[in-house]
Amino acid sequence: MTASRTTDQVAGEAAQRRHLFDVDALTVNGIAQILDEAERMTEPMGAPLRGKTVINFFAEASTRTRVSFQIAAGRLGAQVVNIAADGSSLEKGESLVDTVRTLQAVGAHALVIRHAEPGAPYLAARHFRGPVINAGDGRHAHPTQALLDLLTMRRLFGTLRGLIVAIVGDVTHSRVARSTALGLLLCGAQVRLCAPPTLLPHPGWIAALPPSGEGGTVLQTTFMRDALDGAQVVMTLRMQAERQQNGLLPNLKEYVRMYGITTARLAELAPDAVVMHPGPVNEGVEIAPELMTGRVSLISQQVENGVLVRMAVLKLLLGETGE
Ligand code: ASP
Repeated sequence: MTASRTTDQVAGEAAQRRHLFDVDALTVNGIAQILDEAERMTEPMGAPLRGKTVINFFAEASTRTRVSFQIAAGRLGAQVVNIAADGSSLEKGESLVDTVRTLQAVGAHALVIRHAEPGAPYLAARHFRGPVINAGDGRHAHPTQALLDLLTMRRLFGTLRGLIVAIVGDVTHSRVARSTALGLLLCGAQVRLCAPPTLLPHPGWIAALPPSGEGGTVLQTTFMRDALDGAQVVMTLRMQAERQQNGLLPNLKEYVRMYGITTARLAELAPDAVVMHPGPVNEGVEIAPELMTGRVSLISQQVENGVLVRMAVLKLLLGETGE
């Protein structure tokens, strides 16, 4: 510990290690530890979280993330309680903080939270004793999606170091793009973010990223040929219509023509390149329907690996500590 770090900073860092808010609190070794743990999750292990209660609190729509957290916690032997905003007291005007205090009081040991407001998991963690896991907060972060993406790529290519990954689509509104690009950068990949100018974030965010240490780079481009040339992975993103302002994309057909991933476009990628998508997919917009399955698609592996990664995260945060 250096003398220049304040007590608050040290406490903040310790809190980040106990929760999973985003990939930015992880090191390359921390990421590897989670991915290695995820690889072990197919082995028989008994019920390491027996006696623990995990609350799956989803105040925003979800299929894959919600269900896979539920399955993951169940496979580890935990009791799982699902809460959606609809039907909860949030509808009656209860604040997020009061909801979290209630979940604490009923004896929950871990809180998995999805919320439309960026930062909601950080706020929740101030009122909850156990680990808080961010399952997506507005356009900010989606760390377990990033980790499952990293696991999927590492399984296929053996390493993330030097891997060329194009992330194409609504980058500016996508928490997946942010978290996955950050994770890839930390692990030494070469990330290319590609979108029309209105859907790319201010380039200043790249300058603010932590140095990779592993030789990773991130660049932004509006030109598909620059993004795809020699890329080994292309990850397409859904249009985040729920977060867009009007006028960012005047013509969807034009977008599909310029940025849609099609069989013809695959020729621009490295031979044997693969296609990923975090889902849900708008078929025929960001990706042609025929590319969603088959040899080039890793989409179903992403979903399968999501369960393993969420098991690993729950076990590491809740397992031996006896929270
Ligand atoms: N399922 C991902 C998320 O929750 C991606 C998306 O919704 O487009 O961010």
